[in-house]
Amino acid sequence: MTCSSPFMTPERQAFRDTLAAFFATEVTPHVEEWEAAQAVPWELHQKLGALGVFGFGIPEEYGGLGFDDAFMRCDYAELAFGCGASGVAAAVGGRMISLGPMVQFAPEPFRQDILPRIVRGEMNSALAITEPGGGSDVANLSTRAARVAGGWVLNGAKAYITGGMDAQWFVVGARTGGPGLAGISLFLIEADTPGFSRTPLGGKMGWHCSTQAMLHFDDCHVPEAALIGPENKGFLAIMNNFNHERLAMVAGSLGMMRVCYRSALDWARERRTFGQRLIEHQVIAHKFAEMSARIDMTEAYLERICWAMNQGLMPAAEIAKAKVQATKALEFVASEGMQIFGGAGYLTGNPVERVWREVKVMAIGGGSEEILRDLAVRQMGLAGQ
Ligand SMILES: Cc1cc2nc3c(=O)[nH]c(=O)nc-3n(C[C@H](O)[C@H](O)[C@H](O)COP(=O)(O)OP(=O)(O)OC[C@H]3O[C@@H](n4cnc5c(N)ncnc54)[C@H](O)[C@@H]3O)c2cc1C
Repeated sequence: MTCSSPFMTPERQAFRDTLAAFFATEVTPHVEEWEAAQAVPWELHQKLGALGVFGFGIPEEYGGLGFDDAFMRCDYAELAFGCGASGVAAAVGGRMISLGPMVQFAPEPFRQDILPRIVRGEMNSALAITEPGGGSDVANLSTRAARVAGGWVLNGAKAYITGGMDAQWFVVGARTGGPGLAGISLFLIEADTPGFSRTPLGGKMGWHCSTQAMLHFDDCHVPEAALIGPENKGFLAIMNNFNHERLAMVAGSLGMMRVCYRSALDWARERRTFGQRLIEHQVIAHKFAEMSARIDMTEAYLERICWAMNQGLMPAAEIAKAKVQATKALEFVASEGMQIFGGAGYLTGNPVERVWREVKVMAIGGGSEEILRDLAVRQMGLAGQ
């Protein structure tokens, strides 16, 4: 944005500057290597943990920052997804989407002993909701947890779980009651529990440096305390948790758009066709006007939502609409950025080429565009009028 944000504060600017310097020196120069290795080094989790980025909304006694700030959460997401390979954000981000239920519902000994280690980046955790049979229709998930003497036994499978291959702890949605949303509960399950196994999901078009896994629960016995939160009321917790994930994906899309915009602009200023630099052709210059407008709109909408969240509100309809707007904008900006590069945009290693391959995971993951439009319509009460 050329006009400065009315929401910027000196503290937030300092946080952004620290993170921007960290990503520029410790992450961006290595992303090609990490993507090829299909992993980030474990120290990255710890270094980011030391910067406090996993600690928002978590009390200090559990290893967190002791405060929350939606703007700063989004600053982190924007810079992490915009570091040159958005898979880096995914590689460390499984814990971020699973922390909410752990902070709210996990037993006190877990919050005292394990949670700080996850927040510091010493271990990873993941959120397991999606199943091979479907991800959009969360209310109909079919992994079953049956009550037995001393605890529960789980049977079923989960799919696409980010961080699933290196997480030590999983927040898992399972059916404990009847059909529909009123029969779902959350469980906190350790990776070495008998009856639990995982297999990597290979052959992805992007996010190569992060892991996604299939999880298998075959007569997986867990103790009574593995049930976190009220029995049969896990659906609401899942939905609330999704709001933070979706907002981070709006900010992430913004970061990815900036990668496309900046690299295409550098190219357009340098590349000459028909005796002129590309940027001097009006048709190309107009592409930048349009890309920049969509970036600014995403940022403005994001900041308005962050402001509302810092007032204690949870504007679910706006978050859903903003995610759809952001991923549609990302699709446009990635496409135009690639077009500006011409043939060079089609080559592996071009920053826009990677973003192009990662557009769809942003548009599908964490609630697809179709599902989020539907959610927004319901939240706004349009269908009931
Ligand atoms: C790289 C990656 C990482 C992921 N990480 C995680 C994770 O960490 N944890 C986790 O739990 N999940 C994760 N997911 C899963 C993700 O959230 C789901 O893929 C997503 O919710 C969509 O579910 P689905 O793939 O089963 O598609 P489906 O639900 O089968 O839907 C298929 C298509 O149909 C559309 N559709 C479905 N129902 C309707 C309808 N009623 N009206 C109109 N259109 C409809 C959907 O929008 C989608 O486009 C990840 C996915 C990917 C690809």
